[in-house]
This record gives sequence, structure tokens and C-alpha cells, in this order.
Amino acid sequence: MPQILRQFKEENASCVLRARTDKFSDVEMPQRQSLKAQARTDVRVFRDAHIIQIESILKIFYIFKDTLMGLIFGVEQMNETIERLNKLKKERNAVILAHIYQLPEIQDVADFVGDSLELSRKAAQTDADAIVFCGVHFMAETAAILSPDKKVLIPDVQAGCPMADMITAERLREFKKKYSGAKVVAYVNTSASVKAESDICCTSSNAVDIVKSVDAESIIFVPDRNLGAYVQKMSEKKMILWNGFCPTHNNIIFPEDILKLKREFPDAETLVHPECRPETLALADYALSTGGMCKRAAQSSNKDFIIATESGILYKLKKDNPSKNFYHASPLAVCPNMKKITLAKTIDVLLNMKNIVSVPDEIREKAYQPIVKMLKIA
Ligand code: SF4
Repeated sequence: MPQILRQFKEENASCVLRARTDKFSDVEMPQRQSLKAQARTDVRVFRDAHIIQIESILKIFYIFKDTLMGLIFGVEQMNETIERLNKLKKERNAVILAHIYQLPEIQDVADFVGDSLELSRKAAQTDADAIVFCGVHFMAETAAILSPDKKVLIPDVQAGCPMADMITAERLREFKKKYSGAKVVAYVNTSASVKAESDICCTSSNAVDIVKSVDAESIIFVPDRNLGAYVQKMSEKKMILWNGFCPTHNNIIFPEDILKLKREFPDAETLVHPECRPETLALADYALSTGGMCKRAAQSSNKDFIIATESGILYKLKKDNPSKNFYHASPLAVCPNMKKITLAKTIDVLLNMKNIVSVPDEIREKAYQPIVKMLKIA
């Protein structure tokens, strides 16, 4: 309560007390009348002061009413939604796999949260009848290739990957003709038909080991030129890079963002995803996949980390390491496709068993080999 209001209230309270106990009996009549009139005025002022107080509280409540109601009913609604989802999951014998870039509420309801490689392994191992894949389309397709007997559902069929769309099977076939003898390593961020044209797949966590394992004079690496350039440097292999990139990592995270944070937090470890530009990656203490970043943050004795990848990872990092500090290189680094997945859409696909991702058999059989080869190596 403000000081002035408290003082005002105390002063008037004594007047009310005086009026109530009629302490004016020993005072001369005219003076007594005037004091009683004063006391009545004081009572009115005292009452008004309380009204002002109540009004202020009501005003504050009114200003924040939406926030308060949202908090109260939002939590209730969220609990109901989660309950409904869990019930549906049981009924359908389904498992929810979510990528680290997913919204916090999706990560919270998922049975497993991981990077592309970890999710591929989970998809291959699960004995559930249905997999709800909370990620982008190529990830759900990879799960469908590995588990053809399971129903793989994606909450939003529009959740694609612009980098994966930068190459088609037809264009890869043409490219291969120019470099006969070269073997193709495809980043998992590709469609099933591109995988079907490749010798082996890789993810950002195993790309160096996979490329090193390929016995060939030269290697065509598709579609990410940044990851390809990094792998070329680390493996010292002759590589022909496709000119693709991730708009979120390539176009949003820049060296200046990292340099600014490094100046501010000179002791922080800098973890950069290899989908970033080479000049950004050059500032990294560690070039890591999202899964690699989570492991490093947990194992490192450092307290501060500069993180250069998509924003969704921050939620998991903070949740898993509450005593550590994570500074995002660019808060604008948000993949709009990853964020298309919502709880409502997840419930909808499970309820109606819709948005089933399937791959035609002739493509699936060809795409299966490079993925399984990758899983056996690293
Ligand atoms: S973050 Fe980049 S690579 Fe990942 S899904 Fe989005 S656009 Fe594709």
C-alpha cells in the first residue's frame, strides 16, 4: 500500500474511533457539534479511502485479468489436452517422437526428444503400432522407410524442409552422370526418392565418420553445402558439394551475432551447428549436431554456453541443465516449419488416424539401404 494512503487511513481511523466512542462529552456544546460534524466528514473520507483502495485493486485486476484468467484456465485446459493426448496414445498404442526444435509443449508430451539420428534409431526400435512424428516431413518419411509395418503420422503435412526441397531425385541423377565413379552421401534432410538415389545417408552427428567410411575417389555430398564443407575439412576427402543450405542456419545466424556474445561472455563455450556458414562455424569451440550440443552442455564443467542453432533447443538445454546459462546466437533463428506442429494438430491426427506418411515400395526398398548402412556405421 502506498505510504500516503497508509498515513491517510491511519489519521482517519482515529477520527472514526473518536466519533464512535463519543469522546466529545466533556466539550462545550457548540464546539462538540462542530467536532461531531468533523468526525462525520472524517468517516466519509475514511470510507472513500477504502473505496479508492478497492478500486485500485479492481483496476489492477482488470488490466491483468486476461493474463490471470489465461494462467488459471490455460493451465487447466493444458492439463485436459495432455490427458486427452495420453488417453489417445494408449488407445492407439502410439509413441510420440519429437525433434529438439519442436515447441516446448510438444517436447513435454513426447515419449522421446532427440536429433535426426536419435529419432531414426527410436523409430526403428519401437514396438508401438503408430508413430506420431513431431518434426518435418523427411523425418516422418525416414521413420516410414524404417518401419513400414507401422502407421507414421505427421501432425501437419505442410511441415517441410526448404533445404530438402533444394534437390530432387531427377536433378541428382543428372548430377551423378557428370561425376561417374563418385559415391553419393545424402544428408537425412532429403526426400525418400533422393535417398533412393544415394549410396549412404548421414546426419550432422555422424557425417564425418560416414564420409570417412566411404571407399571412393570422390564423394557427392547433398544437399547442404555448409555441412559438406565442414565434413570435407574434417575428413580430407575429395567432395563435390550440392549448393543447398538451411535458411534458418545460413541466412539468420551470422558471425557478428556470436562475436557480440563472446565479448559479453568471454568464458562461455561456443557450440555451433555445422549447417551454419563456414565463417560462423569458424568461431565455434565445438561444431556439433543438436544431440551433440545437448550432450556437451550436460558433460562440460563450463557454466555458460553460446548456442548457434534453431531456437527450440534452448528449451531442452535449460530444462536438462537448470544451473547453466545458455545464450542464443540469434533469437530470430526459428524454423517456421518445425513450429507448425501444435498439440491440437497432434491430437487431431491421433484421433482421426490421418496424415499417414507412406513411401511407395519401389522407392522405400531403395531408400532403406542407405539409411540402414548409416545406422550400422555410426
Ligand atoms: S531448421 Fe533448417 S534443415 Fe531443419 S527443418 Fe528447418 S529448414 Fe530444414
